[in-house]
Amino acid sequence: MVMGDLVQEVDVVVLGGGPGGYSAAFRCAELGLETIVVDADKKLGGACLFEGCIPSKALLHVAGLLSEAERAREFGVDFGAPRVDLDPLRKWKTERVVGRLARGLASVAKAKGVEVVGGRGVFEDSRALRVEGDEPQKIVFKHAIVATGSAPAPLPGLDVASERVMDSTAALDLPDIPAELLVIGGGYIGLELGQVYAALGSRVTLVEMTDGLLPGVDRELVQPLARRCEKLFAAIHLRTKVTDVREAGDAIEATLGDHGRARFDRVLVAVGRRAQTDAIGLDRTKAARDARGFVAIDDRCRTADPRVYAVGDATGEPMLAHRAMRQGKVAAEVIAGRPSAFDNAAVPAVVFTDPEIAWCGLSESEAAREKRPVKVAKFQWAASGRAATLGRTDGLTKLILDPDSGRVLGAGIVGAGAGELIAEAALAIESAMTAEDLALTIHTHPTLSETWMEAAESLLR
Ligand code: NAD
Repeated sequence: MVMGDLVQEVDVVVLGGGPGGYSAAFRCAELGLETIVVDADKKLGGACLFEGCIPSKALLHVAGLLSEAERAREFGVDFGAPRVDLDPLRKWKTERVVGRLARGLASVAKAKGVEVVGGRGVFEDSRALRVEGDEPQKIVFKHAIVATGSAPAPLPGLDVASERVMDSTAALDLPDIPAELLVIGGGYIGLELGQVYAALGSRVTLVEMTDGLLPGVDRELVQPLARRCEKLFAAIHLRTKVTDVREAGDAIEATLGDHGRARFDRVLVAVGRRAQTDAIGLDRTKAARDARGFVAIDDRCRTADPRVYAVGDATGEPMLAHRAMRQGKVAAEVIAGRPSAFDNAAVPAVVFTDPEIAWCGLSESEAAREKRPVKVAKFQWAASGRAATLGRTDGLTKLILDPDSGRVLGAGIVGAGAGELIAEAALAIESAMTAEDLALTIHTHPTLSETWMEAAESLLR
């Protein structure tokens, strides 16, 4: 920056325009605070809208449609072999889905009077942010909210500079449909995008270093998904690490632990995400970061610097857009002097695979670790009328309850539409409902939502 550049003074500057950042900025504006968002791309939406949740869900919808068409053969409906044309598919995803939502966010910002400045923001101190790039300026603020999010983590020790080695952002661009795709990592992204590419016609080999897919998630919930992946994928290698990846002509050669070397047309690296909190000058404020680079915050999203707040992936796990959105609103309200706190009992998580898996609140394994007595109520979808009509009996609904009061402490669900169904459980946990409340609530018949009621009823018999 040179002397004489623009200097603006605002109540709140938000660094990062993703779900955490724009939710914070919109709420600040609603509460009468003058607010500027600084975003490197000068647009609102962040990784979630442009290279994560939204484009991946658009592609998963297409994958789901292809699977449904295939399943329809079971009951005598044959659409023939699908033909996928990548150009219109990319155009639909980019323009009709992502583009439309991005324009919507820009108009909300305009309507609320939130200015979006393009450039890279770096703290000069606890009062000022320097913006480098196309719109260089200094922003003097009363409060700042760090919402810089996360980025795909590289594969440690195997940094191959080849466009055939993709992270999730590159994979979502759908460069082509590789005949042979290696997916490294059996977590959220590896499974979601692995299923997309498998549905589009790739032979997918998935490598996961732990002894199961989705480590940390209830094994009973993972089982139906693992079975589906075994059908969809060419191979799944558990307890396996990729020890060598190199470009070999027009392919990639990789060593898959004890499974030897194999050739692939492309590789997707999905081994986690890391916080983007380096090089934003946080060390010139009093805000502290932990060893993994996450900004330390309290339940009001306050850092150790009274002027600096932080929300979203930059503050750690779970790295989920809806957590960031809630935190953004909390930070804005606390700055505006309201008694707000991130005190949610349930942060629902969803893996948008086929079948979907969703959970929230206390899990059975957490209860066991904490030696906390719980009652577990289950309902197998094989007994659900709705599941039978959908040809989707591959599901399970599970409630974790306090043994004395019957209060719902946690929930998990696997099956078609689990991502929508988990909302009822999140509400039940947040509002301290009991199994009896769920059992006595009339649920529409025949629906999959009845499975909550059925699970709850099984405990009252
Ligand atoms: P993840 O943590 O979900 O999974 C990474 C997987 O890679 C783990 O199973 C891990 O054991 C494995 N792994 C790590 N190093 C490995 C190696 N060298 N070889 C083989 N396997 C290895 O991470 P992700 O899938 O990259 O997703 C990152 C984050 O993004 C998630 O934690 C989640 O918070 C978020 N996300 C959420 C959604 C959603 O909400 N549906 C979707 C995608 C991503």
